[in-house]
Amino acid sequence: MNMRLFSEFKLSDPVQKAIELLEFKTPTKVQQEVIPTVLNEKDIVVKSQTGSGKTAAFGIPLCELIEWEENKPQALVLAPTRELAIQVKEDLFHLGRFKRLKVAAVYGKSPFHMQERQLKQKTHMVVGTPGRVIDHIEQGTLDLSQVKYLVIDEADEMLNMGFIDQLDTIISSVPEGRVTMLFSATMPTRIESLCEAYMKDPMIVKIEEENSATDRIEQVRIQASQKGKLQLLKEITVVENPDSCIIFCNTQVQVDEVEEMLSDLHYGCDKIHGGMEQRDRLRVMNDFKSGFYRYLIATDVAARGIDVDNISLVVNFDVPQDPERYVHRIGRTGRKGKSGKAITFVAHYEERYIHAIHDYIGKEIEEGSRPSFEAIEQAKAAFEEKIFEIPEAKESKGAQLNEGIVKLHINAGKKTKMRAVDIVGTLCNIEGMTADDIGIINIMDISTFVEILHDKGDMVYQVLQKKPIKGRMRRVSKVDLERDQRF
Ligand code: AMP
Repeated sequence: MNMRLFSEFKLSDPVQKAIELLEFKTPTKVQQEVIPTVLNEKDIVVKSQTGSGKTAAFGIPLCELIEWEENKPQALVLAPTRELAIQVKEDLFHLGRFKRLKVAAVYGKSPFHMQERQLKQKTHMVVGTPGRVIDHIEQGTLDLSQVKYLVIDEADEMLNMGFIDQLDTIISSVPEGRVTMLFSATMPTRIESLCEAYMKDPMIVKIEEENSATDRIEQVRIQASQKGKLQLLKEITVVENPDSCIIFCNTQVQVDEVEEMLSDLHYGCDKIHGGMEQRDRLRVMNDFKSGFYRYLIATDVAARGIDVDNISLVVNFDVPQDPERYVHRIGRTGRKGKSGKAITFVAHYEERYIHAIHDYIGKEIEEGSRPSFEAIEQAKAAFEEKIFEIPEAKESKGAQLNEGIVKLHINAGKKTKMRAVDIVGTLCNIEGMTADDIGIINIMDISTFVEILHDKGDMVYQVLQKKPIKGRMRRVSKVDLERDQRF
């Protein structure tokens, strides 16, 4: 099938509008295959890399097919890491924004009761990591009885992380008449047997990247002693002077050491690794995505699937011992067809890992040399200028979707018996407002959040300063949408 435009999928207006505002002009290859198949409610197995647009490939038909009126979750998406689960949740939220779809993310190391509370509300889609999804199933806090769509994202990574038995348990808990979609970069036998066991005559799609990451990205390796790597890093960053850079290390201790050195040198930097609190990891990722600083030092937790635009340089401070990880790490640069550069520091004892990488990518990484004294001296002025300048903030992906929308906070919630009908009733009584102008409503214990669409938010805000809701005056304030979506 060769579709050229999203309009050819005959999607409903709210979904089409989200696609336009996200500035997706034409469907990627994986989207061309997956969207029509899922719209026809057929199972599908997709072998493709991250960065191929696969989240929207399943997200678009899910948003299209989900029935707004149903209160229980209709789609369950499983992802291997918390970071990826959060990212997928955000992508689904953006795609479903104008259909007013509610998406919840459930993952470990985050308060169970808060997720439980969210799941008690109307929820159309749930994205989660396997362990926490099972916890919710066992506690009876996640009702899967209405799930019609199951997505298993990055199945090979789930296998690597030892989640495969948990997958069995979860899949068996989802009603049988569902549509199942499985995405994986590789297809080990265990994943194949999972497909055989749980999928109905799936369509199998292999997306070969025309211009694969390993071809698109300029790759260099430089010999260094383990001790000499910190000095080499200083020199490389001066000469390369990147706008945005990830430095990968193999251990948490190494991440800490590199971060300390760069901080001492006044680089705008931060770090992320599995030993950090989930809240801190999220903040670090969000700040990096927003472009608050240029250098992120990370272990492989940040390597997989994470979608940050415009990273111009990846440094492998250590050579990854698993060649697949190398491809994932360097794939953080050169995204969406852009070019990028990856520099790998190789200590003597790491030579054998480099050989394994060469075998895996089918070519040799070019050997480079340390920057010369002259090159460093020449680059210094520009480097120092950039290091003291505040990076340009990157607009968040959903920013265009926020246009015309104002989110209001009302200081009344479930405890004062506030219901969605009370909010809708009051709003529709305001002159110039119709139900179509009301976006997502979230009723918490003592607060309610409601989105007002079509540039009518300011007017509604003014009116509600003097108009009672459910018989009483309520405190109504505006919420900063950009900030709100980051956390
Ligand atoms: P993924 O493979 O899901 O990680 O997506 C990679 C990136 O491509 C994300 O930043 C998406 O927002 C973006 N993207 C997805 N589909 C399209 C499209 N059709 N056109 C342009 N960008 C897209």
